Amino acid sequence: MIRVIKPRDDGLSEILANRALDLEQVDEQVKEIIKTVRTGGDDGLCAVTARLDGVEIVPGDLLVSQAEIKEAYQAVNKEFLSALRQAAENIKNFHRRQLRNSWFEPRPEGVTLGQLITPLHRVGIYVPGGKASYPSSVLMNALPATVAGVKEIVMVTPPGKDGSVNPYTLVAASEAGIAEIYRVGGAQAIAALAYGTETIPGVEKITGPGNIYVTAAKRQVFGTVDIDMLAGPSEVLIIADGAARPDFVAADMLAQAEHDEMASAILVTNDTKLAEMVKNELAQQIVKISRREIAEKSIIERGAIIITEAMENCIQIANAYAPEHLELQVLEPYRWLGGIRNAGAVFIGAFSPEPVGDYFAGPNHVLPTGGTAKFFSPLNVDTFMKKTSLIDYSMQALCTDGRQIMALAATEGLDAHAKAVGIRLEQRETGQGQD
Ligand code: NAD
Repeated sequence: MIRVIKPRDDGLSEILANRALDLEQVDEQVKEIIKTVRTGGDDGLCAVTARLDGVEIVPGDLLVSQAEIKEAYQAVNKEFLSALRQAAENIKNFHRRQLRNSWFEPRPEGVTLGQLITPLHRVGIYVPGGKASYPSSVLMNALPATVAGVKEIVMVTPPGKDGSVNPYTLVAASEAGIAEIYRVGGAQAIAALAYGTETIPGVEKITGPGNIYVTAAKRQVFGTVDIDMLAGPSEVLIIADGAARPDFVAADMLAQAEHDEMASAILVTNDTKLAEMVKNELAQQIVKISRREIAEKSIIERGAIIITEAMENCIQIANAYAPEHLELQVLEPYRWLGGIRNAGAVFIGAFSPEPVGDYFAGPNHVLPTGGTAKFFSPLNVDTFMKKTSLIDYSMQALCTDGRQIMALAATEGLDAHAKAVGIRLEQRETGQGQD
């Protein structure tokens, strides 16, 4: 069922090929939706929601009420709530380590330079709806923003057919301190966040995963607002050697494959016997999972077992693939870790399966996909911060550096730039200036 690729097989280049999402296929449709919301405000937003989500919502009901949030708490069980609270604590603790301070550097020559680091004021978080609920996505997006000091965090999520919002999502939002939640999803929600409507004031940045319409909309509004990234289908690449347990490896591949048919689970190993055993385990385990159909499609169409000659080749393949999730199920994981350049998150050793990071450990589960781990980082506190540069020159310092600044301005033909410096130097030379 799963492809097995040996060294120098052609299949390898196909797996490493561009895995970017083809957003163009929905671009026109999404453009229309954005235009409707931008020009029609609340009415446009509610009309698109009626058409695509099959539910009539009046503008006055877009905001989820406090009573609904209270009701949601009644609908969730205690075990979920206590696990959610512990996960939230772990996520906050991890992200607090990412906080950076503003800095000032006064120098003896009369120059002070610095950098202010300030949180964004208002951000929007998209939480997917549809069949599944994603309380973990709420925490992973909202808590770094809270730690960064963002004052206003808004959440949007699609309504169900009866207009309600998933209670697990609502409870997670409330636990994360989100007070403003709107029942609206898809590209229309992204448009509302970017351009604002009468009911939903616009935001400065939009984060969070979604389907192809949501992702295409995020790309289209980029520039009007900032976005986190363009997330594609999820993927795991597992590097395993002869010391790995085939049942563990297969279980982790299926955990990825059950996400969606487009998800990729790839094993790279230098051990032919392990490859055979994982293949057998996959066949045995896949029949027992509830999302078997989805997992099967993913494993057959996008999964692979790649057999290499040596561990060094496994590392090379991982770096070329730049997986969202990388698992190192090898005898000496820390020996090989230094060779890893491209991965969203690395899960080290046999007892760190991906779900530990997906839900609980603390690091963010919003990670770069489709090979973008070559240049993107996981969602983090910096995602919600911006930097402002500070420049403070004394008269003495300007006199020291002024001629060089004027020379550079003259080279670019910007006389007025040179003059803005020159006028101060002249003042100093005629003795009128004060320091
Ligand atoms: P979604 O909220 O992303 O999209 C649902 C909305 O899409 C609907 O409300 C509707 O308005 C719109 N829509 C549906 N069909 C449309 C059409 N034909 N034209 C225009 N708009 C349309 O929920 P989903 O569809 O269930 O997708 C969720 C996605 O998010 C999945 O791909 C899932 O794997 C992904 N996800 C990723 C992460 C992560 O961290 N990377 C976490 C959770 C979910």
